[in-house]
Amino acid sequence: MGLGVSRGIAIGPAHIAESGGLDVPNYRIGDDAIEAEHARFSGAVDYARGQLVKLRKQAAKLPGSAAEELGYLLQAHGQMLEGSRLVRGVENRIREQLINAEAAVSQEVAEIAHIFSQMDDPYLAERGRDVRDVGQRLLRSLMQTPYRALADLAEGTVVVADELTPADTALLDPRIVAGFVTAYGGAQDHTGILARSLGLPAVVGTPDLLEHVRQGDIVIVDGIAGEVVVNPDKETLARYEERRDELRRQTRKLERLKNVPATTRDDVTIGLQANIDLPGEVEAVLDNGAQGIGLFRTEYLYLNRPDVPGEEEQYLLLKDIVEGMAGRPVTVRTLDVGNDKLPYSLGEHLQVSPNPAMGLRAIRLSLKVPALLENQLAAILRAGAHGPVRILLPMISTASEVRQVRAALKKVATRLRRRRVPFADPLPPVGAMIEIPGAALAADSLARDCEFFSIGTNDLTMYTLAIDRGDEQVAHLYSPLHPAVLRLIQFTTAAALRARIPVNVCGEMAGDERMTALLLGLGIRDLSMASAAVPRVKQRIRALDLNEAARRAQTIMDQADAGMVAVLLDDFNALA
Ligand code: PEP
Ligand code: MG
Repeated sequence: MGLGVSRGIAIGPAHIAESGGLDVPNYRIGDDAIEAEHARFSGAVDYARGQLVKLRKQAAKLPGSAAEELGYLLQAHGQMLEGSRLVRGVENRIREQLINAEAAVSQEVAEIAHIFSQMDDPYLAERGRDVRDVGQRLLRSLMQTPYRALADLAEGTVVVADELTPADTALLDPRIVAGFVTAYGGAQDHTGILARSLGLPAVVGTPDLLEHVRQGDIVIVDGIAGEVVVNPDKETLARYEERRDELRRQTRKLERLKNVPATTRDDVTIGLQANIDLPGEVEAVLDNGAQGIGLFRTEYLYLNRPDVPGEEEQYLLLKDIVEGMAGRPVTVRTLDVGNDKLPYSLGEHLQVSPNPAMGLRAIRLSLKVPALLENQLAAILRAGAHGPVRILLPMISTASEVRQVRAALKKVATRLRRRRVPFADPLPPVGAMIEIPGAALAADSLARDCEFFSIGTNDLTMYTLAIDRGDEQVAHLYSPLHPAVLRLIQFTTAAALRARIPVNVCGEMAGDERMTALLLGLGIRDLSMASAAVPRVKQRIRALDLNEAARRAQTIMDQADAGMVAVLLDDFNALA
C-alpha cells in the first residue's frame, strides 16, 4: 500500500530498475577542486543517510518479521555511511589521486566488495552486496542520473524502483511502459506530476516494495487506490483487468467532450489550459481539448544531458510547440530548477544547500546567472514571432525580481533587433507564479508589476504548511484544502481581479475535479492542468452553478480545518 499519484491501473511484468548500469563519469580534478569535491561527496553521503533513515522509519510499520529484517539491513547500510572505511577511503582517493567523487566511490566500493568476496564466511561474503548497494545509492545521489536500463524495456512493463527522480521519469515512454511503483516519493512531487502528464498509472511510497518483487513478476499498480499486488491469483487479476477496462471506457466517453465549451449551468465559460513538462505532449494537449498551454515547465529541457541547451536549441523547440498550438497561447515558465529537479550541467551553481527547497533555485538562480535567463528570454521572444506566448516566472517573492526580468527582457529585445532576428512585438506579457506565501500576501502590490498571476498550489501548500511535497512521511498532512492555503488563493484572486489582471491556478489542484467547485467559488475562472485531466474537469464545470459554488465556498472559508473543508466539498460535489 502506498500513495496513488496517477490514476489508472497497470498490469504487467516487473522490471526492477536497479542502477547497476550507471555510466560513472571518470575525470581528474585540480588541487584547488579537492575541497569542492569533498563537499559534493559529503552532500551525497548526507542525502543517502537521510534516505536510509526515512526508509527505516517506514520499514518499522511493516507487519511481522519483515520490519525487523529490513530494519537490520537498512541500519547496516546506514552504518557504512558513518565515518566508515568506505567514506574515508573515498575522501582519500579524491585527495590523493585527484579524481572526481563518482570515480572514487566506484573504485573504493569495488575494492571493499572484492575483499568481502574472498572471505570464507558466507555471512561476510554477502556483505559485499551491501557495500555495492550503498555505493549505488551514493553514485545516484552524486550523479542525479537516470537508470540507464529504462531506455529499452519490453512493451507493457511495470517499472519497479526504490526511487525515480523526475529526470528518470521523463525517460519513461508511455507507449512502452504500463506504469510504475517506487519505494520513495511524496504526495505532490514532480515524479507524480510527470506520471500524470504521461498518463502512467503510478504508486509511490511503498517501503517494502523491493523485498517482494522479483524481475518478471506480474505486478498490478492501482494508481487510484494506491495499491500494489504482486503475482495476483486468477480472480484478483480478472477483477483488476475488468476495472482497468472500465476506466478506459470512461476515458473514451469523456473524449466526446473535446469540442464542447467548459460552460457552467449558469452560462459562464471557464478557460481550461494544459500543463506540459515535455515538448512531445502538444498532441495530447490538443486531443484533450485544452485551449492553450498554461504552464510549460522548461526545466525538463535541462535534465538528462551533460550540457545546457543554448538559445537556438530552445528557440527551435519552443517554435515547434507554438506552431503546434496553432494560435492558442503558450505560457513558458523560465527555468525552475533546484530541490528535486537538479540538472547535472548546472551542478556548479546548485551546490549542496542546507535547505534546497528554500535555496538558490528557480528565478533566484536565473537572476544570479544572467546568461541562463537571457538565453531563455531570447528563445521565448523569438518563438513569440510564430504565435502568442506569455512569460511566467517561478518562485517570485518580491516585485524587484519581476522588474529585473523586465529589464533583462528589454536588453534581450534590443539585441535581437540589432541582430535583425524576428521576435514578439509587442513584448509578451510577464507574469508571476504565486507559490510562496509571502508573494500571495503581497499579491496586491505585486500585481502592479505583473501582467498575470498563476497560482502554484503545489508549492504554495508546501511552504504555507511547512510540509515537503516530496516526503512520503508527511504526505498525509499535505493538503491544499487547509484553510490557510485557501485564504491565500482567495486573497491572490481578489488582488488580481482588483488590479484587472488575469489569474489562474496551475497547481495540481486545478486538475482535480473534486476541487473545481471550490476554486470557481473563490473567483477563479481559468485553470491549467495535466491535459488528461481536462475532460474530467470540463465535465464537472458543465454540471456546476457558479452562484451555488460561491455560496458553498463562503461556508467553506469559515471552516477551521482541512478535514471539515473536505467534508463540505464532498457533500457539495455529491449534490451537483
Ligand atoms: C506549483 O508549485 O504549484 C507549480 C505549478 O509548479 P511546480 O509543480 O512545477 O513546482
Ligand atoms: Mg512550483
